[in-house]
Amino acid sequence: MEATRPDLLSLVPSDLDVTLAAHFDARGEPRYRVAQVRRWLYEKGARDVAEMSNLPLVERAALADAFRVDEASVARVSVSGDGTTKHLWRLSDGEMVESVLIPTPRRLTLCVSSQAGCAVGCTFCATGWGGFRRQLSAGEIVAQYRASARFARERDLGGVSNIVFMGMGEPFANRKALFPALEILNTGYRVGARRITVSTVGVVPGILELARMPQQFRLALSLHSPDPALRLELIPLEKRYPLPEVMEALAAFNRAGGKRITFEYTLIRGVNDDPALIAPLAGLASQVDAFVNLIPFNPIAAQDWKPSRPERIREFEAGLALRGVATAVREPRGRDIDAACGQLRAHELVQVAGTRAPAEGP
Ligand code: SAH
Ligand code: SF4
Repeated sequence: MEATRPDLLSLVPSDLDVTLAAHFDARGEPRYRVAQVRRWLYEKGARDVAEMSNLPLVERAALADAFRVDEASVARVSVSGDGTTKHLWRLSDGEMVESVLIPTPRRLTLCVSSQAGCAVGCTFCATGWGGFRRQLSAGEIVAQYRASARFARERDLGGVSNIVFMGMGEPFANRKALFPALEILNTGYRVGARRITVSTVGVVPGILELARMPQQFRLALSLHSPDPALRLELIPLEKRYPLPEVMEALAAFNRAGGKRITFEYTLIRGVNDDPALIAPLAGLASQVDAFVNLIPFNPIAAQDWKPSRPERIREFEAGLALRGVATAVREPRGRDIDAACGQLRAHELVQVAGTRAPAEGP
């Protein structure tokens, strides 16, 4: 029974309406019950049918018999010295995923996971070293938002203003859940499309599908090198989706209009920070009018790589600016709680699941 009850959090708003209408019709209940449940889910963030106090008790019981509201439970919360908060969520089957709340003076950004683990296996990423566990459902992605928004509200951190798909997993390797989740967050929970960014290592069909969406969701490409041979050493998926094809997909994304592209460039000392790479990087960014985020590498257990030296990072920043490319250096947040990019869930994988430890090496 448990597995067969549909999860209300996984339904896109139009399907939610149809499904609830059929449910209440069959019970001879008025149609306004649909709007009531909708409000409980999207506006009040109810985590249980029992909370829906304007529904008669008997209707709450019938709803709970027919559907689930499957919100993950908190396994651990870590708060960093800089206010960054990492949640470790336990899903209904015991799998774990993480999300991170990042407060800045003007924004509260939530970084969500799209998969438990990741199959891409980028050599600089702890999530990649941990391997793939399973796909998340749309509801499990949305639940990270609801629970984090509730946490932020309860602690007077304000509302979640931005969502980035930069936690665990490659979002476009889970399109079946990603696209409904985008729709639910945007139409249901009313998070503006321009405040939601999907980050990818370059899965071409995913980029094209996002380009076709009428909403202006943002796209981040994890570039990490303008040179395909070097990029292949960092990102195994470069073999399947070579950079020239990715660039073509980005051009299509731009042609779709009103959409913004960011390049993510993790600077690793002696690996991808040769100043000779600045001009080709600027060239690619100019081609698709991309903003470049320079991110100092966060050390991980599996590699003894180091972040680029501050002077080199500044050289990249200045070199890009000189060539007319908009750029910013992103200081990693929450380093003291391993909440920074590329560090998610590594420790739990070792301690809880006992699977391939990042320290084993390639
Ligand atoms: N799979 C997607 C989204 C999750 S990774 C992607 O790769 O884009 C989110 C970002 O963290 C990516 O830009 C990724 O390249 C970066 N990242 C991964 N490991 C990192 C590390 N050790 N240091 C700095 N950034 C890292
Ligand atoms: Fe997966 Fe992104 Fe990490 Fe690569 S960088 S292994 S795609 S999560």
